[in-house]
Amino acid sequence: MTTTFNVKAVRKLFPILQTPANCQPLVYLDNAATTQKPLSVIQAISDYYQNCNANVHRASHHLSTKATLGFEKARQTVQQFINASTSDEIIWTRGATEAINLVAYSYGYHFIKAGDEILVTILEHHANIVPWQQLAKATGAKLKVVSINTAGELDQQDFHNKLNKKTKLVCLSHISNAIGTINPIRQLIKEAHDVGALVLIDAAQSAAHTKLDVQALDCDFLVFSGHKLYGPTGIGVLYAKRALLDMMPPWQMGGEMIELVTLEDTRFNRVPFKFEAGTPNIAGAFGLASAIEFINQFDLHQVTQHEIALASYAESLIQHLPGIRFYSKASNRIGIVSFLIEGHHPQDIGLLLDQQGIAVRVGHHCTMPLMQHFNINGTIRASFALYNTTQEVELFASALADICQPAT
Ligand code: PLP
Repeated sequence: MTTTFNVKAVRKLFPILQTPANCQPLVYLDNAATTQKPLSVIQAISDYYQNCNANVHRASHHLSTKATLGFEKARQTVQQFINASTSDEIIWTRGATEAINLVAYSYGYHFIKAGDEILVTILEHHANIVPWQQLAKATGAKLKVVSINTAGELDQQDFHNKLNKKTKLVCLSHISNAIGTINPIRQLIKEAHDVGALVLIDAAQSAAHTKLDVQALDCDFLVFSGHKLYGPTGIGVLYAKRALLDMMPPWQMGGEMIELVTLEDTRFNRVPFKFEAGTPNIAGAFGLASAIEFINQFDLHQVTQHEIALASYAESLIQHLPGIRFYSKASNRIGIVSFLIEGHHPQDIGLLLDQQGIAVRVGHHCTMPLMQHFNINGTIRASFALYNTTQEVELFASALADICQPAT
C-alpha cells in the first residue's frame, strides 16, 4: 500500500500517539468517535489561556479585544472551510448534537405543524433522530424513515417515494458513523428542494474526510463537531442560510443574545449572536480554527484515499476469519470497517484488543435503529484517520486472528 503523504511525519505531530496503551504502542482505531489532536491544536488552546484569556464582545480592555478578534477570526476560518457566504451564517455550538437541537427547538417548534412530515434515514446517529422524533410527537408531525439496501446504501427509490408536498424537513447524515456509507447528498438535497422541503445535513463524520461546500450543496442547515476533525471537544458548528436564521427565534436566553433588555421585554441581538446565549467556548473556537488550519495543509482527497486503503487492507486481512460478517459494505464509503465474528461477543473482542494497545469501538455506535434493522445489538468498528499506518492494520489483524483462534 502506498500513500502520497508522509504518515510517519504526520504521526510525530500527535503527542498521544507516542504514549503507550497497556504497555504497548497505541494503535488508535476509534477515530469515528473522536480524533486525536495535533500539538498545534493543543498549543492553540493553551496559547489562548496563556496570552489572551478574556470574555468576548463585552469589555473595552486589551485582552478582551484580542480574545474577540481571535474568536471572530475563528468564525471566519469555519466560514471559509465550508464556503458559507458570510460568517454570520456560522453559529457556535457545543457540537453537532447541540446544533441539531438548536434547529429542532428554534425552527422545528415554531414552523413545524401537525400533518407536516419530517424525513430521516435509518442510517442516522441518535443525534439526528431523537430531536426530530420528539418534535414530531410534540407537534403532531409525522416522522418518516428512509431504508437502506443490503449493502447498507440509502434506498434512493424509498427516499423518492417518501418525499411529498407534506415533507417540510429532511434530516440526513452525509456519512454513516456506524458503517461508513457516503450518501449522495447533493442529489438528495435537490430532490428534497423540489418538493419544497428544507434539508439539514449532519456532517459530523464528513468534515474530516470530504470537502464541504454549503453553497454548492445548497443545504439549508449543516452541522459538525470540532472533535472529529482533530479539534477540541465542546465546540461545534451550525451553518444555516441567513434568511432562515433571520426568521428563527432564539432558543436559549441570557447574556450575549440580547441587544436591549428592560423588565418588560427584550430586543434580541443580530445573527449570529442571537443564537449564542452566555459565555461561549472561546478556547474551543481557537482550537477548532487551529484544527482547520491543520487539516487544510493536506489534500483531503488523498487523506481519505489513504484511510480507505487502510480499511480495505484490514478487510482483506481479516475476511478469512471464521464467522466474520461485515456490515460496512457500501460501494462508496469512508475508511470504516464494521463487523461481527460469530461466537465472539463484540465487548470481549474490544477488551482483548485493548489489552494489546488497540483501541476500537464496540456497541451500537448511537445508531440503535440501524442495529435493529440488522437484527444485532452492535458491531466492532475500526475507523481510520490520516495518522494510521499499514503496520497498525497488520497488528490489528493479527491480534484479531489470535483472539479468534479456536481453544486447543
Ligand atoms: N452525527 C454523527 C453522524 C455522529 O457520528 C456523531 C457522533 O458520533 C454525532 C452526530 C454527534 O456528535 P457530537 O456527539 O459531537 O455532538
